[in-house]
Amino acid sequence: MGAAPKRINTPEMATAAMLSIRAWQSGVRNGLVCPSCQDDRLQIVDKSARPHTAWFILICGSCGLDEALAITSSAHSSDHD
Ligand SMILES: [Zn+2]
Repeated sequence: MGAAPKRINTPEMATAAMLSIRAWQSGVRNGLVCPSCQDDRLQIVDKSARPHTAWFILICGSCGLDEALAITSSAHSSDHD
């Protein structure tokens, strides 16, 4: 209670979100597409704090999307640097 329901809740939306994040990671800052409403003014904020997990906040002013997505980096175990 209190927490907004997840809006990125289908595989299709998760894939769309990933595509936007990958584009963002490669330097794209304009034209990122919202996975929820397809508006192309999605904003992404990097909240990564831990070494093996990347956190991104997806914010869309059009549909009100404001959701964190965690992306675990490659499954290769690297407990030792
Ligand atoms: Zn949207």
